[in-house]
Amino acid sequence: MTATHNPDFNSVQGLKTVQDQIDAASAAAGREKAGVHLVAVSKVHGLERIRPVLEAGQRVFGENRVQEAVGKWPQLRAEYPDLTLHLIGPLQTNKIKQAVEVFDVIETVDREKLARGLAKEFVRADKRLPIFVQINTGEEAQKAGISPKDADAFITLCRDELDLEIKGLMCIPPVNEEPALHFALLAKIAERNGLVNLSMGMSSDFETAIAFGATHVRVGTAIFGTRPKPGEA
Ligand SMILES: *Cc1c(COP(=O)(O)O)cnc(C)c1O
Repeated sequence: MTATHNPDFNSVQGLKTVQDQIDAASAAAGREKAGVHLVAVSKVHGLERIRPVLEAGQRVFGENRVQEAVGKWPQLRAEYPDLTLHLIGPLQTNKIKQAVEVFDVIETVDREKLARGLAKEFVRADKRLPIFVQINTGEEAQKAGISPKDADAFITLCRDELDLEIKGLMCIPPVNEEPALHFALLAKIAERNGLVNLSMGMSSDFETAIAFGATHVRVGTAIFGTRPKPGEA
């Protein structure tokens, strides 16, 4: 993989390769491949690069910015009404209304104020989206997420007091650490809280994540190629 953006990267081939790798990793882990969902992370990429991946049959996508998703996905949804869009980036409370309009799953519920804001908006909009609780497994000061020691209490708050539909847990391991330790920790927190879904694993480590029980892998670069930087075509 080259370090710079390659506009000729064949995303349909990328999708096929990733699907084959998911199948192989599932088989190696003794798991059903149907239990691993691919979230194709299309952030930064334009409609002309996303459409072929939709045409090839992929229906679950992830975006990390509300504003960008609002600009891209209403049109694609009109063309493909059965697609599912996950928010995988930080959500500011002043963007909750827009996020609930454009997304189907919120993966990044990482603080009480956001959980309360979402609960209120779900009632107001009469649209109750499934959520993931984001866990800061590396306890990194600069990273979003609930720290592992506060996870059980936060999950209880979301589930029992706020009546949120918690689909599972999500994490982004620290860049320079062995991801397996973080995947194992996320699985442990989910298990003791009776949660079955684990959103973990990106292009560089999704096969490891599958070995540790990932049900949702969020893969961008391996499907779409290296993301263009601002100013690059
Ligand atoms: C960008 C992003 C991904 C995908 O990363 P790749 O390395 O391109 O596969 C996954 N998860 C989150 C939260 C992201 O922001």
